[in-house]
Amino acid sequence: MTLKIDKNWTLFLDRDGVINERLPGDYVKSIEQFKFTEGCLEALAMFARFFHPIIIVTNQQGVGKGLMSLEELENIHNYLISEVSKAGGRIDKIYVSPYLQSERHFTRKPSVGMGIAARKQFKDINFRKSIMAGDSYSDMLFGKRLGMKTVFIGNTEDARKMGTLADYCYPDLFALANALKNCSQIS
Ligand SMILES: [Mg+2]
Repeated sequence: MTLKIDKNWTLFLDRDGVINERLPGDYVKSIEQFKFTEGCLEALAMFARFFHPIIIVTNQQGVGKGLMSLEELENIHNYLISEVSKAGGRIDKIYVSPYLQSERHFTRKPSVGMGIAARKQFKDINFRKSIMAGDSYSDMLFGKRLGMKTVFIGNTEDARKMGTLADYCYPDLFALANALKNCSQIS
């Protein structure tokens, strides 16, 4: 990584497959089903020194499908935030798009609505000094549409399928955190 970040950078994170393990063919509908990915909590503790704010942007169409309520989702997110904080990390805000893919809602990635909402709330956000890390094409497109640097979380073969949308690729958040540590002005 050649990126030089300083304390004015913002981190945007996808949730499923990045912060917690994906449930193949299903949605995470309870705290019992929510499992942090390997090294994620350590990575988030490191990110807390590099970035402000740290924001999760997540599509959750399981809500739109009626498979879980917004209250159940909020329970999971309260748990997520408290576990991250216990481990020395920080999540400043979680934006959710509960709409169905077919609704083509402005907030659903790869549309940029959740990014715009974040900048409305956190006035210091400069998308040119922001990183979007995610494990899907829509995450990379979301980031690029807003002018961010993009990090694909996954293997290099899948990253290649993203073409020029993915600026960097790391297998997980811990690998990204270590790469940032080595190239940032912050220790
Ligand atoms: Mg994902």
